[in-house]
Order: sequence, then structure tokens, then C-alpha cells
Amino acid sequence: MSLLRRRSAGCSLVAWAALLVCAACAASTTGATRIPATDGRNVVAPNGKQAAAVVARAGAARTVEPADARIVFPASVPQGALVIGKVPPGSTVRYDGKTLRSTGYGTVVFGVGRDARGPLLVEVTRPDATRDQARIEVTPRDWPVEHVSGVPPQTVNPPPAIAERIRREQALVSAARTRDDDRADFAQSFIWPVQGRISGRFGNARVYNGQPGSGHSGMDIAAPAGTPVKAPAAGVVTFAQDLYLTGGTVLLDHGFGVSSNFLHLSRIDVRVGDRVEQGQTIAAVGATGRATGPHLHWGMNWFDVRVDPLLVLERGQ
Ligand SMILES: [Zn+2]
Repeated sequence: MSLLRRRSAGCSLVAWAALLVCAACAASTTGATRIPATDGRNVVAPNGKQAAAVVARAGAARTVEPADARIVFPASVPQGALVIGKVPPGSTVRYDGKTLRSTGYGTVVFGVGRDARGPLLVEVTRPDATRDQARIEVTPRDWPVEHVSGVPPQTVNPPPAIAERIRREQALVSAARTRDDDRADFAQSFIWPVQGRISGRFGNARVYNGQPGSGHSGMDIAAPAGTPVKAPAAGVVTFAQDLYLTGGTVLLDHGFGVSSNFLHLSRIDVRVGDRVEQGQTIAAVGATGRATGPHLHWGMNWFDVRVDPLLVLERGQ
């Protein structure tokens, strides 16, 4: 029996459209997805000699240096993590070819892709020009492969006119994600945008009619059509449109390149440019676009790097 027919909520979106494609709205593979926890932190003292001291996760950093002189990053992160670190205020921070924006307190953030491999290197140049490097290991996760048969062939290999429309729409979404705003809303503890069963996990690999697709770009939460969707953290609306593939689509920018996307919406209550607070209703759950049943697809990005919303939720708990 096909996976799609078996599910009450899920979408049959296909894998050929980048970024927003709800490519694997899988029934939850309960127990099969391993999500390693962050297990420690790098603490680099200002003199650089005590690099990579690992402290207990829940414990305070074991250093006598002034708090704002420390460089603190996790010692290891799982694939799909959103990493928040701390550097001395005024430092220049380079990661993966980018200079990271930092808050007045020295908070920086970046995303780790589903297929990223460690170690990740973060270069920090303090205001006094001394330099250090934080080294972060990446813990691999299991990405269950799900075979989905019986998908309409045109959704796996769309006709040229539709493919062109999808490309055009994806370009608009990608453009919205290049924004690098100085609001630090991403540092809030995120809340669930709707309550419900996880019906599809981030990253699970899908094979449609025998044709491999990319990993699921977000997390699906089963909920009845019309359920209010609440902003999981404050942000600014950067996109609000009905798209061919993803239906009612809203992007919320949380600052520093971190954004959320909400797909298949039946109703959109916000407009581009709106500033929303955490918990504010922004839309309603639906099954628009290529969805087989009502659910919320919630994706998160750091610029064009997809990260796992579930890890972001767990960070705040
Ligand atoms: Zn999805």
C-alpha cells in the first residue's frame, strides 16, 4: 500500500523543487530517528591557551575570566542544528566563508545542514586583534528512507510550464531568505506554532515512484484545517502568497538570517512587512498546494541552510 494512501495527513509534494518543497511529509517513523543532544560546550579563554575546554551541559562555564571575554560554542551539534554561540562583544566572527552578525552582547548564530560533516570551524578575532578558533564536531543522524508509490507522475516530473512556474516562485522565496536583519528574535525560546502529532520529521529521505528525492525540508504537524497558526517566535513577515507547490505560504524572519516558513495554509492573516509577536496568530492550517491532508509544514532556515525546527524547540526546554 502506498505511504500516501495510508496517511491521514501529509503532502505529496515532490523533490524537484528546492528549499520549500514539502518532499517527505512522512508518517512519523517512531523510534527510528535518532536526535543526539548537544553534549557540551567549547569554552575558549581570551588567551587562547585553554581552547576547547568542555563543560557540563547544564553547568556554568568553569572559568574565572570575565563572562563577556569568553568564546562559547557547543563542543558538538547534531546535523540540522541551529547553533548559538557567544563571543566577546565587538569581535569579528567568520564561519563557512561568511562574516557573522553579532549582537551587542556578542551572540552569534548559524545553521548546520542536514548533510553537514564536522568539524565546523569558527574563527573569532577579538577587538584587540587576538584570534581563536572554535572547533565543533557534528553528530550524524539517521535519515530513514521512505518509499512512496502511487504518486501522480506529473508531480515527480512536472510539465515544463509548471516547472517554470515553480522555479519562478522558489526564486521569490529564496530571495526573501537572503535578508540579514539585526533583530535577535531567533534567541527567544521557540514555541509550537500549532499543537499536534508530528506527522513528518525533518530530513527523512523520500523515494517517489522509485525516484530518489531530497530530504524533507521541515517538520509536519497534523492539525485540523482552520487551526490557528501562531508565530513560534517574534519576527517580520517577508513573504505571504499562495504558491503552486506549497499553497498558502508565509515566511517569518527572526533576524540574523534565521527564518521560519509555514506551508499549505488555508488562510493568511498577515502581510509582508508586518511585525508579529511570539504567539500571535498569523494564519490557519490547511491542505493547499500539493498536500494530501490538513497539516502544518513548518520549516526553518539560516539563510539557505535548512535546520530542524524540533531541535530549535528542544533548545528552549
Ligand atoms: Zn512537509
